[in-house]
Amino acid sequence: MSVTAMSALGEPCVLLKLGEVVLKGRNRELFESRLRANIKAALKEFTVDIRQRHGVIALFLPKGTGVDVAEAVARRVSEVPGLVRVNLAWRVAKTPEAVTEAAVELIKERDEVARKARFAVRSRRRDKRFPLRSNELDRLVGGTINDTYGLPVDLKNPELTVYIEVDRDEVFVFTDGLPGQGGLPVGSSGRALVLMSGGIDSPVAAYRMMRRGLRVDFLHFSGIPFTTSESIYKAYALVRRLDRFQGRSRMWVVPFGKAQQSIKASGQDRLAVIAQRRLMLKTAEEVAHRIHAEALVTGDSLGQVSSQTLTNITAQDHAVDLPILRPLIGLDKTEIMAEARRIGTLEISELPDEDCCTLLAPRSAETRAKIEDLKQIEKRLDAEELAVQLADSLQEYKLEDA
Ligand code: ATP
Ligand code: MG
Repeated sequence: MSVTAMSALGEPCVLLKLGEVVLKGRNRELFESRLRANIKAALKEFTVDIRQRHGVIALFLPKGTGVDVAEAVARRVSEVPGLVRVNLAWRVAKTPEAVTEAAVELIKERDEVARKARFAVRSRRRDKRFPLRSNELDRLVGGTINDTYGLPVDLKNPELTVYIEVDRDEVFVFTDGLPGQGGLPVGSSGRALVLMSGGIDSPVAAYRMMRRGLRVDFLHFSGIPFTTSESIYKAYALVRRLDRFQGRSRMWVVPFGKAQQSIKASGQDRLAVIAQRRLMLKTAEEVAHRIHAEALVTGDSLGQVSSQTLTNITAQDHAVDLPILRPLIGLDKTEIMAEARRIGTLEISELPDEDCCTLLAPRSAETRAKIEDLKQIEKRLDAEELAVQLADSLQEYKLEDA
């Protein structure tokens, strides 16, 4: 972009539209300050000045900041849950002339302009002292754009929209931005522990709960010493990817191979998978207590595999006292995969690995596990004690700074 273009456009900044936070009544300030703290942490590599406006957060950048940096800020902040829209905007002087000039300049190189797309201008006047009313400003700017580029106006169904927001000290001019993640700020709903395999589902489940305001820690069960460390690397790579949504993620690994062997030795082949899942949950509950997590999260989806029939899910609920959150319970695999692709975990999940679960793959698994039968196995294993021992064998994997 040329220097003259820059000056017509004013200074770049980033405008953030808040999501559900705005529906909060008296707690709203709490949610908003959490959101600002999360934004600040996500943008620690940039110099930004975070200003709270009514229903909007503005990120001001140092004078002379280039468009590329402003775009990088916009992309990074769009990963922070709690925002519905992220707009790269231009701050211009509070005069109708400056606003018109910026709007014309802003859309100059857009494909929509070359295609002579139908357009609309939408103004909002937060400061009523501005000399033109919203509809007058719409008409002035729209008329000039129409004269300059010959674009047809279409207020109902525009292909290109120019937004103008008249604020207290300046005017913001922008076009359609990036979608945000929606949801609530991470940390506003408490803390949970995600049972994280290397598969497709559990990372999506983790993402969904972060987006509902939970800060999550991750627990992975590896087949060590009977498998390689591959599954750990995979879980680690997934956690790293998911860390973009919350920051400061922690991951723990429990070597689970020997416990699986004991389950196998109990001779109840058809129940082995459910027995193992219950032991994972009991261990996770023990870990959750130690890190003050208030819920467990899994990637279960009803009926997806035999361990996820209604009876078997119920048998898992009975293994622990903590609530087990299953955000994917009603989703199809194709829907889960589409979300995994969007959040960037699918390509990691699809890498080959030796999951600990392949150690226990009976020819046919029980779809209606009886709690009494499971309790028999657990009595022989001394499952409660085993879960404490497994929790003691926990290893933490620290995320290095990316
Ligand atoms: P995923 O794609 O997440 O592996 P899945 O469809 O393979 O799920 P299961 O293997 O039945 O389903 O696992 C159901 C849930 O149990 C997982 O979503 C995860 O929360 C938990 N889980 C399974 N294996 C492990 C593991 N090795 N470590 C931690 N959690 C696990
Ligand atoms: Mg799995």
